[in-house]
Amino acid sequence: MSYPAIRVNLEKLACNTKALVEKCGKSGIDVVPVTKVYCGIPEIAKASVSAGAKMLADSRIENIIKLKDINIPKLLLRIPMLSQVDEIVEHVDISLNSEYEVIKALSEKSLKKGKVHKVILMVDIGDLREGVWYENAVESAGRILELKGIELIGIGTNLTCYGAVIPSKDNLGLLVSITEKIESKYNIKLSIISGGNSSSIYMIEKNEIPKGINQLRLGESIVLGYETAYGDKIEGTWQDVFTFLAEIVELKEKPSIPIGKTGVDAFGEKPVFTDRGVRKRAILAAGRQDVKIDGIKPRDKDAIVLGASSDHLIIDVSDCKQEYKVGDVLEFDMDYGALLAAFTSGYVHKIIE
Ligand SMILES: *Cc1c(COP(=O)(O)O)cnc(C)c1O
Repeated sequence: MSYPAIRVNLEKLACNTKALVEKCGKSGIDVVPVTKVYCGIPEIAKASVSAGAKMLADSRIENIIKLKDINIPKLLLRIPMLSQVDEIVEHVDISLNSEYEVIKALSEKSLKKGKVHKVILMVDIGDLREGVWYENAVESAGRILELKGIELIGIGTNLTCYGAVIPSKDNLGLLVSITEKIESKYNIKLSIISGGNSSSIYMIEKNEIPKGINQLRLGESIVLGYETAYGDKIEGTWQDVFTFLAEIVELKEKPSIPIGKTGVDAFGEKPVFTDRGVRKRAILAAGRQDVKIDGIKPRDKDAIVLGASSDHLIIDVSDCKQEYKVGDVLEFDMDYGALLAAFTSGYVHKIIE
């Protein structure tokens, strides 16, 4: 075994997916698992597919290409770059869009390739990330409908990302009413109303999600088992699908306050120290090049993360019941940011079980 590592429990991931597919299914909502946090590793995505997902989504074309052998539709989450239109038409079935210029380029490329690329128009209902402003959505849809090689299959929104706006009956209701206006004005039927991400789940639990919303794109709730509007655990899910592992390379008793005049640390920050007297400190062979340090939590409840530089992680193990020794491996839970960093780091070994 090589460390640092991230261990993935596929059975638990499948269980989380299944719980959400069932919960959303009862309200007529399809779950689209989002694979970006684990960089679209196909073995991991397959666990979600085996649990009932009928579509997969990622923000990056590189990840979607990795998923090409999984035979279900792929949704591109990030607004396409004009420079990637060729690859997108080639590998992506559906993309989220908000720029006419981009959709026009997708249309031209699709026509050339003899394909039809499906588009979901993103509408900004207040969070101020992507999307056409809600007042312009009906008109935007009209312009898209004139393009050949493109099929407008629905509208969607994204919330609780930039502006931290929480989904509500009002803002998601607005999305449904915009859909109805588009359908009646242009005499078409839109098959998808994509009502956001893991922050929309609480509305299903309270039975408040407006009728008509029929898709959610779920990342964090599947991988960590938390809804993201209020940070509550989701019933029937595991919070420990992923484990970060790092090995002890030094174990010594040292004072808790540095000796000598202090300046700034390796990252230009002025550290603060708590005097706990002489403590037993473990140095683990992992650091900021591997994981987001303030996003990890030791599974050993008595261990305290003191800090880290690029590749040294310092843990206070004085209060731990277990007698650690050099070579032992400590386990950590990760938040979304830590998970993202650990999967992206080329130094972190991926153990898929
Ligand atoms: C990342 C992303 C999601 C998934 O968000 P979670 O909060 O992890 O569920 C959904 N939609 C878009 C557009 C995204 O970029």
